Amino acid sequence: MPAARILVADDDQRLLHSLTTLLMQQGHDVTSALGGKAACEQLSANAFDLAMVDLRMPEVDGFEVMSHAAMVQPDCGIIVVSGETSFTAVSRALRRGAQDYIKKPFDPDELLATLGAALDKQSLLRDHASIQQRLEKSEALHRYIVNSSPDIVFMLDNEGRFCFVNSKIETLLGYSSSELNGTHFRHIIDEQDVIRGVYALRDINVTAENPRTLEVRLKTRGSRKANRHFEITAFPIDHETWPLAADFNAYASGRKARFYGTARDVTERKEAEAFINFQAYHDLLTRLPNRALFKDRLNLAITQARRNEQNLAVMFLDLDRFKVINDTLGHAMGDRLLQAVTQRLEQCLRKGDTLSRFGGDEFTLLLPAIASHEDARRIAKKLIEALRAPFQLGEQEVFVGVSIGIALFPDAGDSLDQLIQNADIAMYHVKARGKDGYRFFTKAMSIDTANRLSLERDLRQALDNNELRVFYQPQVCANTGLVVGLEALVRWQHPERGLLYPRDFLPLAEETKLIVDLSEQVLAQACQQVNQWILDDHMDLRLAVNLSPIQVEHPKFVENLIKQLHDHNFPPQNLEIEITENVIMNDLEQISQKLRQLANLGIRIAIDDFGTGYSSLNYIHNLPIHTLKVDQSFVRGIRGGEGDACIVNAIVAMAHGLKLDIVAEGVETDAQLAYLKNLGCHQVQGFFYGPAQPAEAITRLLNQQRVRAVV
Ligand code: C2E
Ligand code: CA
Ligand code: CA
Repeated sequence: MPAARILVADDDQRLLHSLTTLLMQQGHDVTSALGGKAACEQLSANAFDLAMVDLRMPEVDGFEVMSHAAMVQPDCGIIVVSGETSFTAVSRALRRGAQDYIKKPFDPDELLATLGAALDKQSLLRDHASIQQRLEKSEALHRYIVNSSPDIVFMLDNEGRFCFVNSKIETLLGYSSSELNGTHFRHIIDEQDVIRGVYALRDINVTAENPRTLEVRLKTRGSRKANRHFEITAFPIDHETWPLAADFNAYASGRKARFYGTARDVTERKEAEAFINFQAYHDLLTRLPNRALFKDRLNLAITQARRNEQNLAVMFLDLDRFKVINDTLGHAMGDRLLQAVTQRLEQCLRKGDTLSRFGGDEFTLLLPAIASHEDARRIAKKLIEALRAPFQLGEQEVFVGVSIGIALFPDAGDSLDQLIQNADIAMYHVKARGKDGYRFFTKAMSIDTANRLSLERDLRQALDNNELRVFYQPQVCANTGLVVGLEALVRWQHPERGLLYPRDFLPLAEETKLIVDLSEQVLAQACQQVNQWILDDHMDLRLAVNLSPIQVEHPKFVENLIKQLHDHNFPPQNLEIEITENVIMNDLEQISQKLRQLANLGIRIAIDDFGTGYSSLNYIHNLPIHTLKVDQSFVRGIRGGEGDACIVNAIVAMAHGLKLDIVAEGVETDAQLAYLKNLGCHQVQGFFYGPAQPAEAITRLLNQQRVRAVV
């Protein structure tokens, strides 16, 4: 028996001594207390495993000592050693917590046996308590680890019903862990993932070792909004390493855990992935498919159209005036405009059509499986019409137009790149013609790519090497036969290909914006040349120049033009600029302001190709227009006073009413000249009086004229 710390308390000195000696002989650590008071003091001061207490003691008796011990040393065992043998006393002592009772005078063997039993029992109790404590700690630790795991931790039984789930499920999904007891896990899987989810975990007990992972959405409850994405890892429980698992059940309802696993919330990662995916294939501003997605869809559509021998259309849309609006109202407004434009365009489309933002203010549209080009034409018209009404941007009302080029499969190309490029080319032909319209791509428009690139390079060189020539076409007064004006028409003296006409290179110049440099050179040459003729006694000689829409739209158009006139010292009243109706209509507000500035300086303004554009005559009242140029097509119609001649009649009558000058273009025959003269249209231009010619030829012509005048 191991040594114990024992307190012996008795008021009988002799007995105290003999008991102490007996116990010390057994090797115990014995403290003796003479009387109850001394015993209490010892209990307060030192720790004991056991106290042997007499009951009847003066002042402080054994019961009081026991009460005191219970208070200060509850773990200290008590054995009563007393002469008191009444039933009341014994039972009272046992009730107070005494472990045993020894009658005085005691038999030493009996006493030692009782003592041994009491000490044994005590050490058992002590061990038990400490095991209990360790268990509680360990359980708390594991509970803490499991519940504070960032993931849901669960166990399922053979059938897939929950036998355990940690409290994380409450914070993440809104279920309490106890309510899920016995519920099959499929009940918390999103409907769309249920089949996949159940299938993946179906045979998990068959394939041991390897964990199963799968991603599913789990249903949320309560105030949580959308269902969340989880990555689930599940293992079969290995009953060899955890034999108890076979009997384990957190809810003690008779089912046994067979699988355990974790479910990690990956919603944020999923959302980020989805966003990255969206961003890779969409334009974030308009939320339209981007270039990459468009090409993808077009590729598919081409394959399908080829297989089914169908047509499809690709449209290239470029907004007119967008850049001006963007520059003047700022990018935030520009962005809003793009969004508003997108909305209107989308309303014109059918379900299978793909509208994409190709970049900047360019859009592409795929119409798969169209019956004929009439379908494409109808949609193009609808799109143009949709953008016609003004857009309200804050305080501002703005107008944008759209130029649309259309390429049809298979006629306009049978590959993705060809279709897009040809739609683009067709679009530029719209732009070059004054915008806001649509055109179908035709073979005649295509300068094949290689050719195009070399032409662009050549054109840049031409500008550097002064290969551009200005030819002049006389504008003649039909009554006197005198040259009153000269229209400057550009030619390109190409080193290899000879003399090129505007139709061969102007579209490309517009497209590449080289038109700005080109015009500058033309105007410089013309100003210099015509100025010489003016100084050479042709004071009223008028120089007419053509302006491209791109030039007119440029914010510094007026400034640049004035500067050029100034640089060449050219009298503004001798200049007439020719623009088309469409240019004016594109941005009535801006353009009329610019024109007014120019008119105030004495510059004359002519409407070129009059009658072919909007034919909206209302604006003419409010604009500083001086001249209408009747388009060649109407003049060509003059043969015997039928058809188009009526239009000429109307235009001339109107011009007279508005007190505008009128120049008839493309006059080639006597008959045409006579008819026009008769109408009162006195200024004419055309092959009848001569084509556009180099300056030297014009000098000769003007000299003859002077000679005639002198004669
Ligand atoms: P436009 O302003 O309508 O010029 C008249 C065109 O008709 C010229 O063609 C001229 O040579 C041609 N023409 C003149 N009289 C007759 C005739 O009696 N019969 C026929 N069939 N045609 C006649 P061109 O020079 O090829 O110019 C074509 C277009 O190119 C011009 O049309 C004009 O819009 C543009 N253009 C020419 N030079 C310039 C320029 O320097 N700058 C800009 N921006 N555009 C220019
Ligand atoms: Ca012209
Ligand atoms: Ca013209």
